[in-house]
Amino acid sequence: MAGSITLADAHCHLDASHFPEGPDAVMDRAREAGVVGFVVVGVGGDLASAREAVALARRQPGRVCACVGVHPHDAASWTEEVERELRVLASAPEVAAVGEIGLDYHYDHSPRHVQRDVFARLIALARELGKPVVVHTRSAPADTLALLESERARDVGGVIHCFSEDRAFAERALDLGFSLSFSGIVTFKSARSVQDVAAWAPLDRVLVETDSPYLAPVPVRGHRCEPAHVVHTARRVAELRGISLEELSTAALDNTERRFSKVFHRPSRPQDEAAAGG
Ligand SMILES: [Zn+2]
Ligand SMILES: [Zn+2]
Repeated sequence: MAGSITLADAHCHLDASHFPEGPDAVMDRAREAGVVGFVVVGVGGDLASAREAVALARRQPGRVCACVGVHPHDAASWTEEVERELRVLASAPEVAAVGEIGLDYHYDHSPRHVQRDVFARLIALARELGKPVVVHTRSAPADTLALLESERARDVGGVIHCFSEDRAFAERALDLGFSLSFSGIVTFKSARSVQDVAAWAPLDRVLVETDSPYLAPVPVRGHRCEPAHVVHTARRVAELRGISLEELSTAALDNTERRFSKVFHRPSRPQDEAAAGG
């Protein structure tokens, strides 16, 4: 355990295709680094990854909560059957949010009008279920904000994951009731506008994530990313804000729990037991 830090990885993919050693080994390594909570995202056109995430959350209550959705990359694989099964999966108590959903005009793996249609349908599903949304947005800031607004995502709120936009976008997302989740990108030298937002955003809206297995932060950039690495991202955000790693970590963990209405098991600390009278 790294000192007294406890934190949550607010967005990770632990599919067996990324981590053949299995999620338990990955989470045990993270636990050593102080990571006590995992928001595990299951996306993919055939829903196999979503099923995997729900099963993991069911097996590890108090440690894992799941998000299920259809990534904008896979929007073209949307069918009525996918919609039916996703509704069942997303209704499970282990599922804390619908996500990741959104728009990706950088890769354009699915036609843009299909991405917009599926994004709108999934915001509607989240509202129907009363669960927040986890938003992926890349090279599509105006359309993302417009859809969040027109589909009334404000009713459920959520998280802009892997925040990589600027302050103007952040202001509107905060107005819509969203939190901002910072990934390894905030540790990259070139990410000035993301660092500006990380330094400025209200502390009670700041989350940290790895987006494992992608986007490993400095100083492990270029390696496979895993949840243990979230501490590097937390350290950078703390530095940018001029607060301690402990303070940032505790706030980010609290914010993650509040946003996903999940309470993660925190290890009991000797000082807590002393305060409780032994
Ligand atoms: Zn994403
Ligand atoms: Zn992701």
